[in-house]
Amino acid sequence: MKAVVVGAGITGLATAARLRELDWDVTLVEKAPGPRAQGYMIDFFGPGYEAARRAGLEPRLTELAGNVEEVAYFDRAGRRRAGIAYESFKEGIDGDLLSIMRPDLELALRETAGVEPRYGLGIAGIDNGPDGVTATFTDGSRVEADLLVGADGIHSRTRELVFGTGFIRPLGLHTAAFIFDDPQVRETVGPRFALTDSVDREMGFYGLRDGRVAVFTVHRTDSLDIPADPRPTLRETYGDLGWIVPRALAALPAAEEIYYDLVAQVEMPSWHRDRVVVLGDAAYAVSLLAGQGASLGIAGAHLLAGALRAEPTVAGALTEFERRWMPVVTERQRRGRQGAEWFLPPSRGRLFARRMAIKAMAIPGINRMFSTALVGKSHEPVLGAADLTGGKAA
Ligand SMILES: Cc1cc2nc3c(=O)[nH]c(=O)nc-3n(C[C@H](O)[C@H](O)[C@H](O)COP(=O)(O)OP(=O)(O)OC[C@H]3O[C@@H](n4cnc5c(N)ncnc54)[C@H](O)[C@@H]3O)c2cc1C
Repeated sequence: MKAVVVGAGITGLATAARLRELDWDVTLVEKAPGPRAQGYMIDFFGPGYEAARRAGLEPRLTELAGNVEEVAYFDRAGRRRAGIAYESFKEGIDGDLLSIMRPDLELALRETAGVEPRYGLGIAGIDNGPDGVTATFTDGSRVEADLLVGADGIHSRTRELVFGTGFIRPLGLHTAAFIFDDPQVRETVGPRFALTDSVDREMGFYGLRDGRVAVFTVHRTDSLDIPADPRPTLRETYGDLGWIVPRALAALPAAEEIYYDLVAQVEMPSWHRDRVVVLGDAAYAVSLLAGQGASLGIAGAHLLAGALRAEPTVAGALTEFERRWMPVVTERQRRGRQGAEWFLPPSRGRLFARRMAIKAMAIPGINRMFSTALVGKSHEPVLGAADLTGGKAA
């Protein structure tokens, strides 16, 4: 059997690996010219963690993961206003949690994908039918396949070509991420995920193994426009937050090295049509509010491969995959939207309430309640043994 996978991000790489385990012939295309160096820290937990463990990836992910001991919030004078030990959150979700930079997660997946991505190649056309699919790429070349998987992210071209437009649900926030070098800030951040304790906008800092600092930002706005150069917007929005923020803004890298996008979810009534299926953010982006997009991309790849192995036809597998997986991601999306005001307080009252809630999380038992409310019970049997190709184990 032959598959085309569009996008060599987290979901596409995981999909390629799982299909290779089923002995499928996989063509993996990625429009970027090479592996991505920029990124942000991903808190990796939930069903994708379990899927990665079963695929034998846990030791490599642990090796690449960052060292975070605490999540802490600081006011503009640099005073610590709230914080929780990472261990406490980990305990709350049964201990399966790693903080890993997105390029490092992609590296670990690439090492085991079993197929080399064809970089600099985008999807340009799709001729889809009940018996097969032909992909045309941006260089004019074509590949015929039994299945095309669109793992090309929230602005998926595959989705647009096959299903049309209108599936993106903006959540009234913009996010940015970049990496910079400032030893003094690195020392201030220490082994923490350190965030500003602020209303309507927030900047978070992680110290990286190589001594640099990874920054992530999120702010409220009704705008749907993505600036070509995000630097003026970032300076204007975050310029008066105090603490180490001015140093980060002074060290902003070139525009093309800054990730900037809407915070949005993708909602579709169905993810498949004939021989095309969309997966990961392309199909069901949950947004950084739910904090499980990477995890759900990887778990989705495992479930899809499990269905392809179990069902006699591709059509049957896609239907079964959607039946199993859609309720899970819909629930995660709902939880993500519900948590928006905790993630980014819209008022001083909410900010205060968040500080109190974080204090309460230090109490054993309460941490478990909060963690599972936030992320879904990690011990929920989302992935049964039979759903996974799971590396060598059947
Ligand atoms: C600031 C931030 C923080 C986050 N934090 C977390 C977190 O803590 N935990 C978590 O689990 N998730 C987190 N996420 C979400 C997570 O990053 C995404 O859900 C995840 O990256 C989705 O992976 P994906 O492979 O489906 O899509 P993407 O990562 O978007 O990858 C899509 C790939 O397809 C390629 N592509 C696009 N168009 C084409 C085309 N036409 N042809 C060929 N290739 C194409 C792209 O270049 C890209 O490589 C966060 C997201 C953001 C923005």
